[in-house]
Amino acid sequence: MILIFLAFNVMAGFSQTDPSDKIIYDVVFRENLAGTYEKRQISENNFEYYYTYTDRGRGPKYTEIISLNNQNFIKDQTIKGVNYLNVAIDERFSSKENTGTSQNLMGISEGDFYGDKLYFRYDGSPAVYEVLAQLLLKSETGKVDLYPQGNAELTKNIPFRLSDGTSVNFLAIKGLELDPTYIWMKGDQMVCKISGNLHIVRQDLIGMRSEMKTLQDDIEDKSLLEVAKTLTHKMDKAIIQNVNVFTVEGKLLLNQDVYVDAKKIKAIRSTGEVISDKEATLIDGTGKTLMPGMFDMHTHNDKFRGLLYLAGGVTSVRDLANNKQLKSLAAQFESNEIIGPNIVIYSGIIDGPGPFANQRNVIENLEDGLAEIQDYKDLGYQQIKLYSSIKPEWVLPLTNKAHELGMRVSGHIPAYMTASQAINQGYNEIQHINMLFLNFLSDTIDTRTPLRFTMPAQYGADLDLNSQEYLDFVKLLKSNNILVDPTVAIFENMFVSQSGELSPTYQAIASRFPIIEQRSFYTGGIPKEGAQVTRYKESFDKMLAVVADLFQKGVAIVPGTDGLPGFLYHRELELYVQAGIPAVEVLKMATIKSAEITGVSDVVGSIEVGKNADLILIDGNPLTDISAIRKVEWTMKSGNLFYSKELYNSLGVKHFK
Ligand SMILES: [Zn+2]
Repeated sequence: MILIFLAFNVMAGFSQTDPSDKIIYDVVFRENLAGTYEKRQISENNFEYYYTYTDRGRGPKYTEIISLNNQNFIKDQTIKGVNYLNVAIDERFSSKENTGTSQNLMGISEGDFYGDKLYFRYDGSPAVYEVLAQLLLKSETGKVDLYPQGNAELTKNIPFRLSDGTSVNFLAIKGLELDPTYIWMKGDQMVCKISGNLHIVRQDLIGMRSEMKTLQDDIEDKSLLEVAKTLTHKMDKAIIQNVNVFTVEGKLLLNQDVYVDAKKIKAIRSTGEVISDKEATLIDGTGKTLMPGMFDMHTHNDKFRGLLYLAGGVTSVRDLANNKQLKSLAAQFESNEIIGPNIVIYSGIIDGPGPFANQRNVIENLEDGLAEIQDYKDLGYQQIKLYSSIKPEWVLPLTNKAHELGMRVSGHIPAYMTASQAINQGYNEIQHINMLFLNFLSDTIDTRTPLRFTMPAQYGADLDLNSQEYLDFVKLLKSNNILVDPTVAIFENMFVSQSGELSPTYQAIASRFPIIEQRSFYTGGIPKEGAQVTRYKESFDKMLAVVADLFQKGVAIVPGTDGLPGFLYHRELELYVQAGIPAVEVLKMATIKSAEITGVSDVVGSIEVGKNADLILIDGNPLTDISAIRKVEWTMKSGNLFYSKELYNSLGVKHFK
């Protein structure tokens, strides 16, 4: 990311404010005035804050007190109130004699604290963002260390004169979350913070809110283009030398030179046999594994996360529900205007009405559903995903319509229906392994609700893989060529992780993430206590057993994530191996098998002469240790080379090295 540091005005200083003056901000949520944020100086270096807004019965309410030390770091802090979910919050931080003591969702802990790191609270008002912005503006390095770990970095500081004449500075900060944090400052005071639907604006500037929003969106879009320009390494001709090649048969061909020219694989020869092209870039692959780019078979793409797929070695994806502008995003990925994977399958989504409807596309009646399928077909989509609130009686006519148009049907099993019924009414594919487990529970469960998770968690362990009912179901899957997209990593996180403990799903990577993302790895999935802890774990193990059993019986399994790109995909592959599927088979699923299923195996999915040079270099051998798949050094896609380290760094994520 390009750093823009510009001259900054002299600090306004709190001494100029009357201590009794409250500074009041409006909180706008989803374009409605939803609450207030107030700041009051109690005495020198001591401030009090009040923050609340409501969102359909939810929303936080906090009273917060902060004392700063002479370097403007937080010395003491208390936060009381309720969080967005109305859970009581009593968070504290205090420091004395080189020790910091914090009490938060993680319990009470102590650590070395010398007054030069910023305690970053779990829950609370926006106050910490203002303090952070002040620190960053004063910092000579443009960085501020966070307590207990991590750091934040100022990546942009752009002065603007708004149309009402107000001079403000727009700051972009990296290191808190994958998305940059944006703060609008006037002098050393935060005047506006816009994050998604939540806009906090100092009252006197509320009329400038949409102007700042437009400016911010514009900067965000431009920086995506900037990132693509900076981090793309054009590679018209290259020879990857002395590398071990993963073949389409699943063998490792040792010590090969792979010649890439004009985005295609032109030659593969044993190292030592001459491939000579003076224009080619030479890349050393000694001791490393060259694999075809992988396929994530369950994604939802947006312009911000595309590069995480490439960083994780995923070059092709199926998009299983998005907005109807997906083709234009795909075109930006394809031209590399924005970094992202090839979207090879476009799936439209439709859901029925009701309180749990998937807001991406809700239909009120069957006629609308049929029209939507036609609309998706006209837009060039190849597949339709039905969601939990579709009425069971609509399924057959909807699948008939899709099949008439040559489209596949997949999805959740609608509520009050079983997987068997859905298959008999035309489903070609089932998303999420819990939907298979629900087949054996009952068709009376309202699976629009969290029951679709808690029921399989509670009763999944009882599923008998030798029972006639199960065997008949597997037969049904096979005879109808049903594809299963299990997304087991998501269920590991839901069923096995525990609140306050690092989730096994993210264990290998947590420390590499920005602080707010790291904390999300400790939230513990669905609530569980007492005997449920073991029970849910047993149910998850049964899910893995089913995946392995289906694989052995010849049901096609496709690896997909439906979550954190790249990282969750690696976990999905690890779990398949843990389930008992040989690594070589898992790697074939991730590459050639997925390419065949999505109909693109003539151009990608394996390393063969004539195919596209969609390649990844792995520092290790994933055939003997599937976890080596996490060590992606670089990814080549359509004649461009991307170093994972650079891609991760742009998001504030550390590389494995
Ligand atoms: Zn999904």
